[in-house]
Amino acid sequence: MMIAYGTILATLMGLAFGSFLNVCLSRWPKGESVVKPRSHCCNCGHTLAWWENLPLVSWLALRGRCRQCKAWIGWRYPLVELAVGALWGWQAWQFVSLAVNNAQIPGLITLPDVVTLLGRMIFYWLLVALAVLDAEHLWLPNWLTLPGIALGFAYSIILGFGLLKSDALTGLPMTEGVLAEPFGVWSLLVKSLIGAAVGGGLVLVIRWTYRLLRGHEGMGLGDAKLMAMLGAWLGLPGALLAFALAVLLGAAASLALLAVPAARRGAQRWTMTKLPLGTFLCIGGVLSALWGRQIIAAYLRWVGLN
Ligand SMILES: [Zn+2]
Repeated sequence: MMIAYGTILATLMGLAFGSFLNVCLSRWPKGESVVKPRSHCCNCGHTLAWWENLPLVSWLALRGRCRQCKAWIGWRYPLVELAVGALWGWQAWQFVSLAVNNAQIPGLITLPDVVTLLGRMIFYWLLVALAVLDAEHLWLPNWLTLPGIALGFAYSIILGFGLLKSDALTGLPMTEGVLAEPFGVWSLLVKSLIGAAVGGGLVLVIRWTYRLLRGHEGMGLGDAKLMAMLGAWLGLPGALLAFALAVLLGAAASLALLAVPAARRGAQRWTMTKLPLGTFLCIGGVLSALWGRQIIAAYLRWVGLN
């Protein structure tokens, strides 16, 4: 019952924060304030009544069109709300079931669990924001990626100390693994730093090689900073997995585009079309955060290393 309540609450919060993110995503590129004026139709300026502004529900009720001018609102609005809602709900579900099924003390909520929950919620929100900005504007703003990297480091520091603290408080053996690491409570931060440096560096090396071979830019500096952010949050293995998934998804998207006759007609131009790599990196990052350990384990089994 607790699990259901927690999950539903987090999903509703995610829908609300996704709805706010939609406002940001429409106004940031135009340099407008996200607070004022109130939500309105981008086409006719009609100010939305509260019931036209409910996440998901309003979009469905209005069938994705403005009530006044019938302009198409777009798929992005329900998709962003759904994405943030589902990811937050999933994270909360993990959090509550971990507490409820705690072997030693059922119902015990530990500091690391809380830090993980809040950290992941911020991380997913950032990834959804960057994914849409890159898809719509090929834009990965520094004022999102750079604080994103810093937040990843902060997350690792707080989680490290949280593990130490909860170990002292409850005397549970769960944290021995982390505290036995060479750098103690700082181990997570060291992993974050390595992930960010190598992850970001990898994109820079590819970018540099590509320019040498092809004479023009294949990847932006924004992609390097985004990759550093993934490294800061997920560590190097998680970031590399996200990168591999992004390349696969990008290749699949290219093939799918080629299969569409309209896109193929512009094939000459198509080879020059810049795919939003950042969007695929964000999707890869989410998948890596959700199932990274399982995917890496399955891969190692498949190549016969484990
Ligand atoms: Zn309108």
